[in-house]
Amino acid sequence: MNEFVLATRNGKKLDELRRILDAEGITGLRVLGLEELESRGVPAIPETQETEATFEGNAVAKAVDVARASGLPAVADDSGLEVDALNGMPGVLSARWAGKHGDDGANLELVLGQLSDVPDERRGAAFVCATALVTPDGTETVVRGEWRGTLTREPRGTAGFGYDPIFLPEGQSRTAAELDPQEKDADSHRGRALRLLLPGLRGARESG
Ligand code: IMP
Repeated sequence: MNEFVLATRNGKKLDELRRILDAEGITGLRVLGLEELESRGVPAIPETQETEATFEGNAVAKAVDVARASGLPAVADDSGLEVDALNGMPGVLSARWAGKHGDDGANLELVLGQLSDVPDERRGAAFVCATALVTPDGTETVVRGEWRGTLTREPRGTAGFGYDPIFLPEGQSRTAAELDPQEKDADSHRGRALRLLLPGLRGARESG
C-alpha cells in the first residue's frame, strides 16, 4: 500500500479525499492526516502561514513543508470565495475576511452586508481551490478547481461550512449548505481540483 499525506488536521477533508478516491475506483493508496503521521513518531509539523498572494502559492508552501518533514508525497490545498462585485475578494483572505481567522458566521454576514445594494444580475461568485502535490524529491504539481454560482440574500441550509449557506451553485436551486456531501463533491472546487490531481497521485505511487 503506497502512502501520501494530506496536509490537514481536519477529519472532514480527509473523509472527502477518501470518498473521492473511492468514487474514482482508486485502490492501493493510503491517505494519512497530520495527526496519524505524528502518532507514528514524526515530530509535530508547525502550521504553514498562509501569507502568499495566490491560492497556488499557499497550497505549494504547505505541501513542501509536509513533504520535507514526512519524507512522503504530500497534498495540500488552499481555497476561498471570489466575489465578482468585490473584484475577486475575499479570495485568499476568505477565512479571515471579518478580521478573525475562521469566524464563518461573521465572514458570511460581512459579505452579505457588502453586497446588500448589489442587484441579482451582479451577484456572481466562484469558490476556488488550488491543490498541490509535492514529492520528497521536490517535484511540484499544482491544479485549480472552480465552482461558479451566485450569492443569495439570506443564508440557507446547515450542511457544509464557511460561505456554503449563501452560495447557490450554477444549475442548482439549493445552496451548497443544502447539498449532501456526495452532491457537493461531484461539483465543488475541491472535488474538481482533487480529481485533476489524480494522475499525479498515481504517478507518485508508481515511482514511490
Ligand atoms: P481553507 O482553504 O481551508 O484555508 O479555507 C479558506 C476559507 O475559504 C474557509 O475558511 C471558508 O471561509 C472558505 N471556503 C473554502 N472552501 C469552502 C467551501 O467549500 N464552502 C464554504 N466556504 C469555503
